[in-house]
Amino acid sequence: PVTVDLPAVVSAGLVVPTLNGPVDYANFDHAASTPALVSVKAAVDSALRTYSSVHRGNGYASKVTSAWYEQAREEVATFVGARDGDQVVFTRNSTDSFNLLARALPRDTQVFVFETEHHAALLPWKDRQTTRLPVPGSAADAAVLLRTALMARHSRHRLVVLTGASNVTGEVWPVRELAAIARKAGARVVLDAAQYAPHRRVDLADLGVDYVVLSGHKLYAPFGAGVLAGRSDWLDAATPYLAGGGATKAVTERGVTWHTGAARHEAGSPNVIGAVALAAACHALRAGAEAVEAHETSLGTALIDGLRAIDGVETYSLFGEDHERVAVATFTIDGLDSSLVSAALSAEHGIGVRDGKFCAHLCVDILLDDPYGEAPGTAIRASVGLGTTAEHVQRLLAAVADLAANGPQAAYEATAEGWLP
Ligand code: PMP
Repeated sequence: PVTVDLPAVVSAGLVVPTLNGPVDYANFDHAASTPALVSVKAAVDSALRTYSSVHRGNGYASKVTSAWYEQAREEVATFVGARDGDQVVFTRNSTDSFNLLARALPRDTQVFVFETEHHAALLPWKDRQTTRLPVPGSAADAAVLLRTALMARHSRHRLVVLTGASNVTGEVWPVRELAAIARKAGARVVLDAAQYAPHRRVDLADLGVDYVVLSGHKLYAPFGAGVLAGRSDWLDAATPYLAGGGATKAVTERGVTWHTGAARHEAGSPNVIGAVALAAACHALRAGAEAVEAHETSLGTALIDGLRAIDGVETYSLFGEDHERVAVATFTIDGLDSSLVSAALSAEHGIGVRDGKFCAHLCVDILLDDPYGEAPGTAIRASVGLGTTAEHVQRLLAAVADLAANGPQAAYEATAEGWLP
C-alpha cells in the first residue's frame, strides 16, 4: 500500500494549563479554523523576506511578488480543478466570496438556497429574488425539494447554492446529484466548500458545479485569504466588487475602463502573503489527500461512535446516522448547558470544542427541535483535523462521559482567565 505522510501542523504538541495540570492541547475546533501547516509557515517566512505590491511596475520586489501571487492562483486553480476559462479570484474568506458572487449575478437571477446553509451562503442574496428550500429530512428529500422548486416558472438566470459538507453535522451533501438536477433545469450552482475542501477533493468539473467558495483559515493557512473560483462570464460583466487601483485598465477624464479577469474584482493591494499561504496549504493537502482522508475517517468514526455510546449524550444528523460525513460531530449533553460543557472541557481537560449555533441558526434550531429559535439552546461541535490524535479522541470521550455522569467541577460563570495561555 502507498503510504503518504500527513502534513504536519505548527501547533502540534502545544501544552496548555488546565485545572488538572498541564496537558497537550486537544484541538477539536478545526471546523472553525485550522492551525497552520509547517509548510505554510515556511512559505510565509520565505515570502516575508522580500515583498512589495503586485502588478505595480518592473521593480524587483514587485516583479517577484507578482510572480508568487500568480503562481498561488495557479496552485489554487489546480486544487479546485478549475476548467479552461474559469477564474480564480482571491477574496478575504468564504463570506467575502459569496458576497462578491451575489454582487456579480445578473439582475434577474433567482437564487435557490437550503435553510441549512451557513449564514455566509444563506444571507448575501438579499438583493435578488430568493427561494428558501426547507431543511431536508434525507438526501433523497433534498433532491425532491430542489427538483420541485426548479420546476416552477422562473426568471432567465438561476443559481443554486449547495454546501459540500455541513459545518453543523459534518454530513456530506449529495452535490453531484443535486448539481445534475440544477444543470438539467438550466441553473448554475455555487458550492460552499469551506468545510468540504479541508477533507475531500474538490473538482469543479467532476462535481458539476459552476463556482466554488473556500476559506484559507479552514484549510490550514492563516486568516485573510479566501477564493471564489468558477465561470468568468458573469464576473467579467459585473461591476467591480471594489472600485480602485489594480482593477482599472485606464482612468481618464472621460471615464474608467475596468479590467476583465480576476483583477476586476481584486482592487487595492492584495493579500499576497495570504495567497502564498493558501496555495502552500492547497499543495500540501493535494499531496497528502489519501493520508488526510484515512486519518480523519478513522478518528472521525471513533469520535462519532464513541459519542453515541455515552448515556445522556445526543448526536445530531440531517440525513440519518449512517450518512457519509467528514470528521465533525455535533452533540448535546442532557441537562447541561453547551457553553458550560465547552468551558469545562477547556478548563479541566485542555480540549477545545465549539459551542453555539455555528452561524447556521436555522439548521441548529431544527436539529434541536426548536424551529422558531425560542429556547436558548445551543449545541457542541467537535471537529477532527490533522493535529488530532487517537489519544485526543479518547480524552474527549472520557471527558464527555464524565461530564454526562457527574457534571463539571465548577460553574465557570466568569471568564476563566486562569486557564487562558
Ligand atoms: N460556509 C461554511 C460551511 C462554514 O463553515 C463557514 C465558516 N464557519 C463559512 C461558510 C464562512 O467562512 P468564513 O467565516 O471564513 O467567511
